[in-house]
Amino acid sequence: MFAYWGKILRVNLTDGTIKEEHFDEKFARKWLGTRGFGIYYLLREMDATADPLSPENKIIYTTGPLTGTTAPTGGRYMVITKSPLTGYIAMANSGGFFGAELKFAGWDAIIVEGASDHPVYLYINDESVELRDASHLWGKTSTETEEALKEEIGDKRIRAALIGPAGENLVKFAAVMNDEHRAAGRGGVGAVMGSKKLKAIVVRGHKRVEVADRARFTSVVKEKTDKLRNDPTAGGGLPKYGTAVLVNIINQNGLYPTRNFQYSQFEYAEEQSGEAMAAKYLIRNKPCYACPIGCGRVNKLPTTGVTEGPEYESIWALGAHNGINDLASIIEANHWADEYGMDTISLGGTLATAMELYEKGILKQEDLGEEAPPFRWGNTEVLHYYIEKIAKREGFGDKLAEGGYRLAEMYGHTEYFMGVKKQELPAYDPRGAEGHGLGYATNNRGGCHIKQYMISPEILGYPYKMDPHDIGDEKVKMVILFQDLTALIDAAGLCVFTTFGLGADDYRDMLNAALGWDFSTEDYLKIGERIWNAERLFNLKAGLDPLKEDTLPKRLLEEPVRNGPNKGHVVRLHLMLPKYYKFRGWTEDGKITEEKMKELGLNEL
Ligand code: SF4
Repeated sequence: MFAYWGKILRVNLTDGTIKEEHFDEKFARKWLGTRGFGIYYLLREMDATADPLSPENKIIYTTGPLTGTTAPTGGRYMVITKSPLTGYIAMANSGGFFGAELKFAGWDAIIVEGASDHPVYLYINDESVELRDASHLWGKTSTETEEALKEEIGDKRIRAALIGPAGENLVKFAAVMNDEHRAAGRGGVGAVMGSKKLKAIVVRGHKRVEVADRARFTSVVKEKTDKLRNDPTAGGGLPKYGTAVLVNIINQNGLYPTRNFQYSQFEYAEEQSGEAMAAKYLIRNKPCYACPIGCGRVNKLPTTGVTEGPEYESIWALGAHNGINDLASIIEANHWADEYGMDTISLGGTLATAMELYEKGILKQEDLGEEAPPFRWGNTEVLHYYIEKIAKREGFGDKLAEGGYRLAEMYGHTEYFMGVKKQELPAYDPRGAEGHGLGYATNNRGGCHIKQYMISPEILGYPYKMDPHDIGDEKVKMVILFQDLTALIDAAGLCVFTTFGLGADDYRDMLNAALGWDFSTEDYLKIGERIWNAERLFNLKAGLDPLKEDTLPKRLLEEPVRNGPNKGHVVRLHLMLPKYYKFRGWTEDGKITEEKMKELGLNEL
């Protein structure tokens, strides 16, 4: 086999055993990598109804066949587990260098099961693997932990996937951090590490990933890299302004939600745009491993010194979503969210829920305590004060640490929670891109934009422009195609931002050259479809009720947009969802049919 080692590391934290396992090409051809491998093992090995924070849950770190190769953006890895936030599948992806290093060490994936009774970290140095005590690291922030590990191991070139205090304290939206400011952010995967008392996975590798045909692979990679460099977004906007290049574009199109989606345009968007950030704070770009795009930002503030980020989603979640305009405060808040190790989208969404509960008089100052800053739109003190309180679960921070849905539920008003399947929504108002709304509603991991990015066709014109308010068959089929395609890109080990410039055939070319296979584009998309369905199957086994939960917040379905170009629009989900189920080949109530199970080989699991 090329581009794989065929090796999986299995670590049981309850009894401390470490084993090497193998997979063959037949398995690889079916599941490809990352999300494919992860969902296969979860479906095979765990009870989907298990408590996500119990030792019965497993957490799986996976690479793809292109991870660690020279393919553009080939550095991604994925953390797959049952989410404590949603109760369904979590698959959180991250760039940086950890994924490539894991591959260089000779491993395709790590399955962690059970739970330790004291803090530990896993140290992988090629074949040598050991569990070490991490009691002295417990309580340390992301950067402190990484620095302490480098010092202790005596190797500055180690890479680590780790948790900060938020993960240790089981914050429901805690992230797994790597390379200081890169995050496998969504779904509370950091809390699962925390529940297992696993502070970090440290890796150092010295091998080179072998591809089937080096000359062909090099030439294909060059061709695709050139395509990315010549694309106005991948080679222009993203390197110049980071993902925050989207702020002005999305705001002008009337999809930049503010004040918990009460409005769809933000009056101060320009002041928190990528352009403003570049003019005031940017020092340089920071690309992930093998990335020709380089959307990562290195900024400098008097308060934090040199820091990284924020990217588009974080600027919005910590900014416009909460009516906050001050870019310096947003950058600083992003810095601390990274240091404590939490997902900025869910953090911002939870604070915005609290803001609206406070605005409506449901949440009162006495609930917060005398000292606490009031949840008033635009109050930057909220950011400064609550990030640490949430991470440490102190005072009202303990309630916020449960996420926006549970917070709204505690006060009897879940209608003010703007999320799907208990996960907070990202930075696009779907009333201005209805296909994107269908994508949110049907996403296996709840409120998520990145596992289908209908903003591409509906707003940005990739691969071609679609009317954002068209809800016909073509639109519904495009949502399905984007879901399957992103599953494929993830599984390959690449970043979804390559879709600015590359299409499905380009991924086929790179995979075939690396693997020595002769799969068609349809063969690869079938893998994406298999992964999507397998994740759906896990959710159904975990108790998903599709007709109740494949939905959007009431506000987006019933309250027409108040301002901007989409004024008067809602998402007509009820007209798209039945078609979605039909085109997916599912039952009318959103379940996977026996025929579809057989067609995808899921009945063999
Ligand atoms: S496009 Fe951005 S997030 Fe994606 S691999 Fe490159 S630097 Fe990392």
